[in-house]
Amino acid sequence: MVAISMVPLVLCIDVEPDAHVFAPGQSSPWTGFENMLELVPALRRRLEEATGKPAHFGWSLRIDPQIAMGYGSPTYIAEKYRAQLDDLAGAGDAIGVHPHAWRWDPVRQVTVADHADKQWVDGCTELAVGSFRTIFGRAPDYHRFGAQYMSTATMNLLRSLGVAIDLTVEPGEGPDRDAQLPGTVWTGQTGDFRHAPTAAYRPSPADYLQPDDDDAGEGGLWELPLTSSSRSRFPGPPHRLRSRLRHPLRSVRGLARRLSPTGGTASQPGHRLLAMWLDWPDPRHFWDAAFEAASGPQPPYLAFAIRTDTGSDPALRRTFTRIMDALMEDKRVGDLGFVTPAQALAQMGLATPI
Ligand SMILES: [Zn+2]
Repeated sequence: MVAISMVPLVLCIDVEPDAHVFAPGQSSPWTGFENMLELVPALRRRLEEATGKPAHFGWSLRIDPQIAMGYGSPTYIAEKYRAQLDDLAGAGDAIGVHPHAWRWDPVRQVTVADHADKQWVDGCTELAVGSFRTIFGRAPDYHRFGAQYMSTATMNLLRSLGVAIDLTVEPGEGPDRDAQLPGTVWTGQTGDFRHAPTAAYRPSPADYLQPDDDDAGEGGLWELPLTSSSRSRFPGPPHRLRSRLRHPLRSVRGLARRLSPTGGTASQPGHRLLAMWLDWPDPRHFWDAAFEAASGPQPPYLAFAIRTDTGSDPALRRTFTRIMDALMEDKRVGDLGFVTPAQALAQMGLATPI
């Protein structure tokens, strides 16, 4: 096998309230985000020392109707923490958006993940991208829809809104993975990523899970799927999820399809998201799986996403800390570069360097 000289690694931090859902008047604090703001400078320094390169992260801001309901403005987080976000952008981090389609139902007193209502979903997408533009004067650096929701219509809308990179696709994951979340009702269906491409691709306007063979030019929208692996659900006793979310294991069957003209393959049967929020019995095995996964897509890259409750939930924080500590001790760490999504595409030779 050809040695991998440098693997771009994208780590997206979804900036969200501590609780996933809440009733009007009972909005959740943002302790996790505040803790992550304190945790990240030291992490950045350690990664820069270990990798010998600048280290960058992505911050995906919740901007959507649930945030407007809970905090009085859809852009609450960008307003309250503007100075901190400007510091992060100044350090070279990417600032993106992460809308959820949550809608409070006052009759049933539940939060509806209203993915069946296209108008509502479109409104959430437009609110996120449009409000970001109003606040920051530019398009978000990337987009990640919440709760694994994606559709061809939404991907096309993102393209038309000028979003350059999406990171919603989680290859190997079936639809409605998190639909058991207490206090929620789900309509429609989230993305069916069981056979999604595992390499960066330009989504076809006819089917967002298919690479657009015709689009070889500059510009347009790139999908950067998160990293999946056949080793992502470790053997042994059933894993304990530390998140408040429940993620029922699903059997993933079906034939893998070769999809990508850029040489990428579709996720294989048995592949699941390689999740940093799972409680790995041995965190070194996370990196074994990651480096193995990185040899799949050509050119290689890694992409992960965590939620800011990594900073507020003691178990999630311990899990993340153990994984990062294991990386610092891993002799392969110098092969990685923590980069923004745009830098990852540029280093893969897929988009114009920035
Ligand atoms: Zn989210």
